[in-house]
Amino acid sequence: MTTPGVADARRDQSAEWILLVAAEGRGFQLAASIRIVLMVALCFVRIVCNVCSAQTSQTEAPSFRLPDAARPMHYSLDMTIIPSEPVFHGIATINLQLRQSTKTIWLNQKGLTIKQVRVKDEGGSYRTAQFEAPDEFLAVKLAKAMGPGKIDLEIGYDGTLNDKSVGAFRKKAGDGWFVYTSFTPIDARRAFPCFDEPGYKAPWSVSLHVRKEDVAVANGPEVSSTAEPNGMMRVVFKETQPLASEVVAFAVGPFDVVDAGVAGEKRIPVRIITPRGRASEAGPAKAATAELLSREEAYTGIAYPWDKLDHIAVIDLPFGATENPGLITYRDSGLLAPAAKDTPRRVRAMRGTMAHEMAHQWFGNLVTQAWWDDTWLAEGFATWMAAKVMDAELPEGERGLSMVQARDRIMATDAKGKRPVRLEMHSRAETEDVYDGLVYQKGAATLKMVEDWVGADAFQRGIRSDLREHAMGNGTTAELERDLEQATGMKVAPVIDGMLNRIGFPSMRFKLETGKLVVDQESVDGGKAWTMPVCFHMEDAPRKCEVVSIVHAEIPVQGAAAGGQGRRNLQTWIWTNAYGSGYYRSVLGDGMLDAVVGRGYLELSEPERLSLLVDVKSK
Ligand SMILES: [Zn+2]
Repeated sequence: MTTPGVADARRDQSAEWILLVAAEGRGFQLAASIRIVLMVALCFVRIVCNVCSAQTSQTEAPSFRLPDAARPMHYSLDMTIIPSEPVFHGIATINLQLRQSTKTIWLNQKGLTIKQVRVKDEGGSYRTAQFEAPDEFLAVKLAKAMGPGKIDLEIGYDGTLNDKSVGAFRKKAGDGWFVYTSFTPIDARRAFPCFDEPGYKAPWSVSLHVRKEDVAVANGPEVSSTAEPNGMMRVVFKETQPLASEVVAFAVGPFDVVDAGVAGEKRIPVRIITPRGRASEAGPAKAATAELLSREEAYTGIAYPWDKLDHIAVIDLPFGATENPGLITYRDSGLLAPAAKDTPRRVRAMRGTMAHEMAHQWFGNLVTQAWWDDTWLAEGFATWMAAKVMDAELPEGERGLSMVQARDRIMATDAKGKRPVRLEMHSRAETEDVYDGLVYQKGAATLKMVEDWVGADAFQRGIRSDLREHAMGNGTTAELERDLEQATGMKVAPVIDGMLNRIGFPSMRFKLETGKLVVDQESVDGGKAWTMPVCFHMEDAPRKCEVVSIVHAEIPVQGAAAGGQGRRNLQTWIWTNAYGSGYYRSVLGDGMLDAVVGRGYLELSEPERLSLLVDVKSK
């Protein structure tokens, strides 16, 4: 799927706006003539601007996002990595599709020493090209304009194995040096030149030259290992499916490899990879994959998409884990523990992390967000899915509680007004916030609320259809909303958009009157009402949801009897957050709290009771 440039999108919007004004502002004839003049003018502007943008892409460095003039179709990476040496060598060969004629090709690199760039057009032979490497970018200067069409770039470079746990980095434990990678969101460019954005997915063929005594792993399974002079060997890995650069991964070092059997519908091999000498700490991790993966396959209706799954323990990784397809990286203390010191609590936390990372194989890797403003499509989904998968391990009465707790905690954070879930990204500095807790937890809370409102089966149909439609490509929030609306027949977009694009949440003040439930949205910014499903659980009635989209709403409720004005003992009890997943606080009117606590409490589900408790506590 393509990612149109920001400038193009803005230009198209302004054109539509001018035409709308022209059509509606005056009489039809005048509008028609204005329209013709405008359309001619706009055509001219577009032609000129296309020329401008082509010229811009040829000369000036992009500010952050790459121009959409070239698209990688395939990468070959050939790297020589000796963990005890801080510099590594690489040759990246990239097959490109040029969309237009251009004299400069822009891609990403950061901190690499580019030694040589060669270019080959279709049917031709490689010729050396000039290049520049300003911060974050590599500009390949062609001797003459090339494209549209296919060309190949071959880039020879040196990179540094840093000690900052970013890009390709190395760690020492005992006498051993270990090399690992951490690329999300924009640090693959520190290890090889690439189109380092999630919209540019392509297959990767990786081969590593390493010392014979080291073990080398990457996203794909090893297909061959050949001895080379000077105690080296060349390890070739199977070409991957199309992947974004940020989830490419490799590791080299003195590892122990623990066979963890097979998992999933396709019975793919699973391994736990540890620093040498720590294989005995991998017991619980070894047991987890087959169980967790099959639950996720059952939900998505799609077999695990890759050929193998390695879980690798990274020494002192400063964060929990990263979901690289086929090679998931974990902080060593999260994945491994000496049996004598292990606890059920750690094992459960580890399984939760593994469930999250494995969920990303569908949500994030099989379907990747087109741009980082939609990172919630990966993180919100993986968080929501992991909670579902881990719930299956609990007794019936404890299920769903962790989701209510997580919702309550993130609402407390959200109340501080920090940021919405969806945010544009225009610079490296802004990438620091791309994995904010709100992206994970408010994203997951959004999914849970919508799932309960539209019904779990219909929701699952929508999710499955979205995954199938965008498999091996990219997806957006708008496309997800469309797929959910088709599957459920419900207008989910206004609800989801509000949750993702607005900061905070409403307080809902409820009053039960005879035959109706009166809802007033309070603490709403600018007086703008939220569009929210309000689900209620009432005495002797099935749970029911109504979408409230105005500040003052009245919901007809059959059988509701208010009793009398201001009475403390209502005749009907009602809890206004059925399922416990509504992203709002309930403030109950006269007598409602007494009624639901006094007579309804035992009828509520455990998540509903907890949601009642947290709302009372939050006052
Ligand atoms: Zn994640």
